[in-house]
Amino acid sequence: MPDARPPVTDVLATAVAALGGRERSGQVAMAEAVSDALIRHRHLVVQGGTGTGKSLAYLVPALLHDQRVVVATATLALQHQLVERDIPRLVEAVAEAHTEIDASYAVLKGRANYACLHRIREGTPDEDQGALVEVGTSMSASSLGTKVLELRAWAEREAETGGSGERDRAPRHTEREWRQVSVGHRDCLGAARCPFGEECFVETAREEAHRSHLIVTNHSLLAIDAIEGVPMIPDYDVVVIDEAHEVVSRVTQAATDELFASDVDRAARRSRRYLRSADDSSPADDLADAGDALGAAIAQCPPGRFDDVPEMLGDALVLVRDAARACLSAYPKEADTAEADAGRTQARGSVQEVFGTAERMAARSVSDVLWLSEGGDRMPPRLCVAPLEVWGPMREKLLTDKTVVMTSATLMLGGDFNAIATSVGLKPAERVDTTTGDPAAPGGDEPDALPWVGLDAGSPFDYGRQAILYIARHLPPPGRDGLGERQVDEIAALVDAAEGRTLGLFSSRRAAESAAEAVRERLPHLTTLAQGEAQLPELARQFVSDPHTCLFGTLSLWQGLDLPGETCQLVIIDRIPFPRPDDPLMSARQRAADREGRNGFMQVAATHAALLLAQGTGRLIRTTSDRGVVAVLDPRLATARYGAFLKASLPPMWTTYDGDLVRQALARLANAEPTAS
Ligand code: SF4
Repeated sequence: MPDARPPVTDVLATAVAALGGRERSGQVAMAEAVSDALIRHRHLVVQGGTGTGKSLAYLVPALLHDQRVVVATATLALQHQLVERDIPRLVEAVAEAHTEIDASYAVLKGRANYACLHRIREGTPDEDQGALVEVGTSMSASSLGTKVLELRAWAEREAETGGSGERDRAPRHTEREWRQVSVGHRDCLGAARCPFGEECFVETAREEAHRSHLIVTNHSLLAIDAIEGVPMIPDYDVVVIDEAHEVVSRVTQAATDELFASDVDRAARRSRRYLRSADDSSPADDLADAGDALGAAIAQCPPGRFDDVPEMLGDALVLVRDAARACLSAYPKEADTAEADAGRTQARGSVQEVFGTAERMAARSVSDVLWLSEGGDRMPPRLCVAPLEVWGPMREKLLTDKTVVMTSATLMLGGDFNAIATSVGLKPAERVDTTTGDPAAPGGDEPDALPWVGLDAGSPFDYGRQAILYIARHLPPPGRDGLGERQVDEIAALVDAAEGRTLGLFSSRRAAESAAEAVRERLPHLTTLAQGEAQLPELARQFVSDPHTCLFGTLSLWQGLDLPGETCQLVIIDRIPFPRPDDPLMSARQRAADREGRNGFMQVAATHAALLLAQGTGRLIRTTSDRGVVAVLDPRLATARYGAFLKASLPPMWTTYDGDLVRQALARLANAEPTAS
């Protein structure tokens, strides 16, 4: 039967024309590759530089696909961009010319991202007593804060006007305030038992998702649904993972559990009210004792990874697990109770959570990594458990029966897709040779994943002409104690030449602060901002509003900023961003790779550094008229053996070791007339 769908390139051209854009060869190649992958049921890994127009390149084939498609992003910013801008504009652009297209779409987030009408209307179960506090009496403005009352009023307005009740549409609030008007999945009564189930924002969002062809969600919800097996997303057979360079860390995060001794104590306190027997004893008391034992064991342990769990800690985890299990079996089954009780649901939920985590930690599985995270900043130490690898579950649960498109501006590390593909569960040997159409080799012992195709959709930028990579080869390798005098001199000279316009990406907070201090002292006519002095959006606003400004910060600046134009002509990177040697998960992953005969340093540490370097470097050139310099103050990029791998992960900038030449180029740029992009 002939295919009734219009060609993907026709629909893309209609959309691009309607949106006032121009044809981009990388975008067309990517759209064709996505369409092909969907039709042939094979995975696609596609790198497209900034400015390729990746979202249209996957949204058009997704709209044309005859089954539901899920799009998952890592960041809220991209989720917003898709839902508020890209998808509505695309739908409007193609709806008239292609009435056969099902253009319905919905956004789906985790439960805690929506206001809970039950919590708002019936009050918050008191954490310690389990008693419901009456709305408008004990939960007064003084105890709760006017902000929470404001959030409640907002949520009621949302309910009246058919709003979505989503957190990011709410008036400004803190995490703690939001917790007073929302619930996690364990605390929800369930739509069938909840008196407000019919109006519930989460339920409404899920129903809308059920009716939609396109669902936009985030990596975490995708991981919980597909990998953890908690059904959150309506059936789908295709998923597009945008910002795919983040997916391994988001899947890891979703599968990481934490346990504070105070979690056990709180679960016990909440449960006492519901689990008191005639002789006044309670399994909740045993749980509280187990929590004390855990607290004492944690106090004896040094922070860091446990290869062998200390006996006292192992015993305490078993105690907590068993006491939590006894509590759970003492609770009446929800179905046996006459009516829903939010306090009891929440109390049982907190015991369930403690039980699940303690059981996992006590099991000491070789596929998990257990460590004690140092406390600080009013945070007590906590036990953490995370999967050693996520490629196995990703392969088994996601890549065997769904068609997956992964895309990002940075997926080719060291010049190819192998490192990223391996980390998500795709084997290099299963890559389809696009000249013959066959996978190069069979899959091996693991579950059969669909074959995959890799595509470099290129970049609209001419990096060789637009950007210089300056490696300060003459500097000493960075030491353990932050920035040395020579690094500081180099930074000041570069910033002086650029007259500000500098984004400084540092490997530690201390290095960022000391660089900011030195530049302020030596170049007082410039404005120098350091991360932490204000919220990031405010710092970014100040940075963009005046070119004679520097912004210095750490990891969170590496990925999230979009700073086109003359405001950012110099990106300084103080050292190659290898993971810290005492990072428990990275060091465990590196060691596991070594044990399997792979090169742990290259596969874990160098891959991690390459990805961050590529992301950091990507802050410089955001439009075809941007020009500038990436200055790496770590000579190992030029001198170490792994330097070639790292360099091959970066855009093809013109490279030099000549500091004078670079400062002259920066001075010329600083004095040039701004150009329109
Ligand atoms: S169903 Fe759950 S999330 Fe929805 S209003 Fe009821 S308790 Fe809240």
